[in-house]
Amino acid sequence: MHYLDHSATTPVLREAAETACRVMTEDFGNPSSQHRLGIEAAHILKGSRAAVAEALHAQPGEVFFTSCGTESTNLALFSAARRRRKGHILTTEIEHAATLQCCKKLAQEGFEVTYLKPDETGHISAEAFAAALRDDTILASLMLVNNETGVLLPVEACGRTLKRRCPEALFHIDAVQGFFRVPLTPSKWQCDLMSVSGHKIGAPKGIGALYVKKGLRPAPLLYGGGQENGLRSGTEALPNIAAFGTACRARGKTFAEDAVRVAGLREALLDGLRERLPWAVVNGSGDVPHVVSLSLPGCKSEVVLRVLEGYEVYVSAGSACSKGRESHVLQAMGLDKARVDSAIRVSFAPSNTREDVEALLSGLEKAAAMLRRG
Ligand code: PLP
Repeated sequence: MHYLDHSATTPVLREAAETACRVMTEDFGNPSSQHRLGIEAAHILKGSRAAVAEALHAQPGEVFFTSCGTESTNLALFSAARRRRKGHILTTEIEHAATLQCCKKLAQEGFEVTYLKPDETGHISAEAFAAALRDDTILASLMLVNNETGVLLPVEACGRTLKRRCPEALFHIDAVQGFFRVPLTPSKWQCDLMSVSGHKIGAPKGIGALYVKKGLRPAPLLYGGGQENGLRSGTEALPNIAAFGTACRARGKTFAEDAVRVAGLREALLDGLRERLPWAVVNGSGDVPHVVSLSLPGCKSEVVLRVLEGYEVYVSAGSACSKGRESHVLQAMGLDKARVDSAIRVSFAPSNTREDVEALLSGLEKAAAMLRRG
């Protein structure tokens, strides 16, 4: 099997799965229980929080576990906006649905939302961000890495401008696709809230985290037993949390070599495309190596996906979340219909090999030969 869809989800790392299994079957206590099992569970929770915090370059007290990246973003945006009754929210047209749908709901509640448009390379400029700020801007939300094009957004420059122009406004970063791809430095970015997700880094599905800058007290979405320092009630999903901690430790150890390896895979893919499918186009500038968006104009992506699947090569058309709908990101970039309709997203993990790239290239050649003839 040649799995090249790691921006959709990743296989769980063996050591993370083993941790989850151990916590499910042996260390299964409730961290709130007062007996030995509970105390051990609380200890596991503490260690896992420290591991995730280290990966986020944050303090353990700034990390709150959630169920996924989507929940983290909901918690961040609703609590940040609703602490003020009205005001202006600044975001972009290329955000993940989690952000876009929250903003849509907040607009229904009376907040005014501005969506910045990317240029044809998929970039949002810090100048456009600065120009869109208003005196009543209360919140800005930007993704760190776009999930469809691998474009990096200028979060550092935007954070600086936001805090200078609107010191009371909060800054949320959706770092789901940047986690363990680029170093996360929320304090350098003047970030108040940052979303990450476990299943994109080798932890199971069902676990995410929200970074909350020290001193900030967001309002919860879930009320109950007061877990997660009152921010997210509900018995902690300890097997997932512990597996998340294990995955962070494992990925942290190999971060530098993983980046070099993935960059090599991207180069191999781009070289292969130039040589064997020179009419293929790469969408967006792809600032990070792990995501490559490419189009084979004239070859519908859903059909190419099926052909590739026949060779056990797995990629996405646009993003997995768009479920076959036309990509709002590529459309926002102003790409023509032939490119949007034939877009394929390849997303690497360090576990991929040159053989995976070769299988993809050869599958694409076969798909193109079949579809361009027809
Ligand atoms: N943000 C981005 C940029 C994503 O790519 C995704 C998932 O693909 C999410 C948020 C949502 O994360 P989750 O699947 O953990 O809810």
